[in-house]
Amino acid sequence: MKVVVVGAGIVGAAAAYESARAGAEVVLVDRSLPASGVTGDSVAWVGGPRGGDVPDGSTPLHRQVLQEYRRWEAEVPGVQVRWRGSLVWAEEAREHRHCQPEERLIDAAEAGRLEPHLTDPPARALHLMSDGAVDPVAVTQALVRAARTYGARLLTACPVTALRRSDGQVVGVETSTGFLPATTVVVTAGAQAPMLCAPLGFDLPVSPSLALLVRCTAPAGWSAHWSPPRASRSGRLPPAGSSSPPTTEGSSTSRTFSARGRRCCDV
Ligand SMILES: Cc1cc2nc3c(=O)[nH]c(=O)nc-3n(C[C@H](O)[C@H](O)[C@H](O)COP(=O)(O)OP(=O)(O)OC[C@H]3O[C@@H](n4cnc5c(N)ncnc54)[C@H](O)[C@@H]3O)c2cc1C
Repeated sequence: MKVVVVGAGIVGAAAAYESARAGAEVVLVDRSLPASGVTGDSVAWVGGPRGGDVPDGSTPLHRQVLQEYRRWEAEVPGVQVRWRGSLVWAEEAREHRHCQPEERLIDAAEAGRLEPHLTDPPARALHLMSDGAVDPVAVTQALVRAARTYGARLLTACPVTALRRSDGQVVGVETSTGFLPATTVVVTAGAQAPMLCAPLGFDLPVSPSLALLVRCTAPAGWSAHWSPPRASRSGRLPPAGSSSPPTTEGSSTSRTFSARGRRCCDV
């Protein structure tokens, strides 16, 4: 089986790795470099379904993800997950009713104990004990390397311009450097995927969505000297310059604050 995977984000790297490991002849093509799309800017949380989630088509995948990441940790050099759990609060914790075995609702004292860097621990938070976090670029690169050990080829700086069809079948992809034949084409081009699929009559419901991400990096022990900007209850951040981080050097620790309708941190 000849597989062309279009796009080397986390999804394409995973597809290339799993296909090559299963014995397929794989070409992974990216218009830029692996993890150069949204993957590189991801918080890269790894978590299963939550008690408050309404089951949908993604629920079986959510159930599988924790065991799949553990498998990768065991078999793919360079894949490391920080299994430290996470805290979520605001609407999600307020509205949470049914806890899964790996979830618990906690109070401010417990939230402050788990995340001592919080200067104003939430009165009620959801502690997701089985969550993990990865370095998304490192994991993507590790999967690409592992795919290559199984014989996959990586083509970078090589945009795919169209999927080629013959007798109603996709038979490969057109790229800036020529045609790549395939028996299977996997389109993992992120937000660009609908543009590649539209000429085939597929209206792929994928579109970019806005997110605010603040990433702070500082030497270990930084909270003793500096508090990171905190989103206010309305989700607004204090004005730039109201707080300034120390110079980053030596071993560092990082915290990520994401505002997508919820406030959160890994612990
Ligand atoms: C701020 C933020 C935080 C997030 N946090 C999380 C999180 O905590 N947990 C989580 O699971 N998800 C999170 N996500 C979502 C997650 O990042 C994305 O769902 C995931 O990275 C998408 O990966 P992808 O491989 O589909 O797409 P991408 O990473 O966008 O990869 C697509 C690749 O395709 C390539 N490409 C595009 N067009 C072409 C073409 N024509 N030819 C060749 N190559 C092409 C691009 O160069 C790119 O490398 C977050 C996203 C954001 C923005």
